[in-house]
Amino acid sequence: MNSIFERKWDFIVVGAGNAALSAANAACDRGKHVLVLEAAPEGPYSGGNSRFVEVFRAAHNGEYGHGVKYTPEDYYYYMLKTNPDSDKELVRILVDRSIDMIKWLTRHNIKFVNESIIDKQYDPDMARSGFRILGGGTMLLHTLRKELTKGERGNRCRLLYNAEVIDIEIENREFKSVTVNFNGKHIKVYGDNLIIASGSFAANLDKLRQIMGDAVDVLKIRGSRYNKGIPLFVMLEKYDAMGYGDMHKFHSPAADARAPKFDAGIAMRPDVIPYGIVVNKKGLRFHDEAPGYWLTHYSKWGGWIIEQPGHIAFSIFDKKALGVFVPPYLPPVTASTLEDLATELTKYGLENPKQLIETIHTFNNACPRDKAHLPYDPSELDHISANTDPPKSNYARPISTPPFYAYPLSPSLTFVYYSLKIDKAARVVHKSGNPFVNVYATGETMFSNITPNSYVGGVGIAMGTTFGIIAAYEGGWP
Ligand SMILES: Cc1cc2nc3c(=O)[nH]c(=O)nc-3n(C[C@H](O)[C@H](O)[C@H](O)COP(=O)(O)OP(=O)(O)OC[C@H]3O[C@@H](n4cnc5c(N)ncnc54)[C@H](O)[C@@H]3O)c2cc1C
Repeated sequence: MNSIFERKWDFIVVGAGNAALSAANAACDRGKHVLVLEAAPEGPYSGGNSRFVEVFRAAHNGEYGHGVKYTPEDYYYYMLKTNPDSDKELVRILVDRSIDMIKWLTRHNIKFVNESIIDKQYDPDMARSGFRILGGGTMLLHTLRKELTKGERGNRCRLLYNAEVIDIEIENREFKSVTVNFNGKHIKVYGDNLIIASGSFAANLDKLRQIMGDAVDVLKIRGSRYNKGIPLFVMLEKYDAMGYGDMHKFHSPAADARAPKFDAGIAMRPDVIPYGIVVNKKGLRFHDEAPGYWLTHYSKWGGWIIEQPGHIAFSIFDKKALGVFVPPYLPPVTASTLEDLATELTKYGLENPKQLIETIHTFNNACPRDKAHLPYDPSELDHISANTDPPKSNYARPISTPPFYAYPLSPSLTFVYYSLKIDKAARVVHKSGNPFVNVYATGETMFSNITPNSYVGGVGIAMGTTFGIIAAYEGGWP
């Protein structure tokens, strides 16, 4: 172990998610000596939010999409439409390098199943652009870790677990060393270049409390407990690095309130919301449950729930909704009458069960009677609406067919739309506008440069790999 801490590394990479492992492999490809420092212990919690991913986004000319093209211009147009405040130069790089990025991953033994998923509920753009990873995030990380130390590479490139970077030493915008908490010991490690790929700060509950107040107490973190953003805040607060984005804007779907505090992932997300109603703890509806396709509003429900008393809510539905959504990990609260369901929900914080029954009756009366028998079609917005307050724009059917179901809901957090500013060489930018000489950032540590307004499926890992490779080539490309 001493040899790890005594030598000077060509590259020190912080984190062991997709962005970090892409950068580390690219530097290793160059024959460099690379040290990857991972805060988590070896095992299921290593690898950050990348453990949950499924799909990369890339442009192609039909050779990968069963003949269906997704051109660089399609990709670029979609990015600017969804993220008008992005850094256009960086978006252009992401788009133009995208198919080379897929080829780079393929050379590193990542395998894809590139099926067109013609499913508007998900994302019509994704249907043409998604490169689905065979084996998902777990296989992606496993393969990139294996690649890093394969054969003679293992003599030059190392991954150290239980190694949390707690400080960075920089002089005149030039990186010198990091301080690592390695199994409780604070050790300095020296390097010529630093690549920060430690994710966002979605697990930093103190910072989140400053942003969203006591909602943090009920908030579920969808990803890793290790993403506290320590290197990000060292760069912002100690070295005056430039930030990009808005600290008060976050990607926040609803989660099952019974989910664990961290690692809520996808399996705790109740996708049934559009097919029922959502009430607060007073038993009152507070938002249109189906204003558009699920993809367009699923990430906003956490924010809407935060505005409710106690920051909790309940998704209520009946037998008719079964089979049109992927059931989350935990079974719903179930009862054969609405009264019993309301009583049961008091155990989860519902304060006014009588009001809930009244709300359901009011909603049921507002649903068009002649359409009540029509089944839900999740692939189309049906414009069958309930003219009540608030209205429900689609999928309005009475909640009248037992058994009756409910999910208690909490807000959850994927990430805050705020990160480090980088330049086109992936170097972190100082507030003066000049880049740090040899400090790079990739992945969620810089993601607001590309997606400051809204998350775009498949782009999270695409930017991590692309700018990870660029950082490892010190602004170049293999
Ligand atoms: C449920 C879910 C599903 C998703 N699905 C997709 C998808 O299909 N496609 C997509 O593009 N995006 C998806 N995303 C977003 C995607 O997960 C992220 O954008 C991407 O994985 C971020 O990768 P990263 O390497 O930057 O960060 P992470 O994968 O989070 O890795 C950060 C790493 O840094 C380590 N770390 C943190 N702090 C320190 C420190 N101080 N010292 C040392 N190590 C540290 C962590 O332990 C971790 O290993 C999803 C997110 C979630 C939560």
